Amino acid sequence: MRREFSAGGVLFKDDEVLLIKNPSGVWSFPKGLVEEGEKPEQTAVREVFEETGVRGEILDYVGDIQYWYRAKDDKVFKTVRFYLMRYVSGEPKPSWEVQDAKFFPVEEAKKLLKYKGDREIFRKALELKKKLSR
Ligand code: ATP
Repeated sequence: MRREFSAGGVLFKDDEVLLIKNPSGVWSFPKGLVEEGEKPEQTAVREVFEETGVRGEILDYVGDIQYWYRAKDDKVFKTVRFYLMRYVSGEPKPSWEVQDAKFFPVEEAKKLLKYKGDREIFRKALELKKKLSR
């Protein structure tokens, strides 16, 4: 067994949220591995930009998700830390790492998200966003 630690963003532009279609063809949030010497916050901002071309800034921490996946002969136990982000600049343009990158209205995004962890993170992010806007 090995462990991986990634960080990513739930980035809103007004009432739309930025999703990527991952290499498995599943709509999810942009994220990537936290590199040596990097803070998860930096990773999240960097990965959102690298995968989608969109610049964001962090508003708050949302939560961590964990899942197992199989890689060759190894089982990987992965933790992904998510931050609530606000749009700064750029138009979504998928990098080679993802199949697509787009903004979606909240209700549409809810239908597209398939991973249990992502759905939980989206619920928390929406609550947090509402709280911050009061
Ligand atoms: P990273 O984007 O962190 O660099 P990666 O692209 O190497 O990571 P993952 O996105 O973690 O790897 O994908 C590895 C496996 O886990 C794939 O089979 C993918 O479908 C699955 N997976 C991706 N995100 C989730 C999730 N939120 N919940 C459960 N399984 C997931």
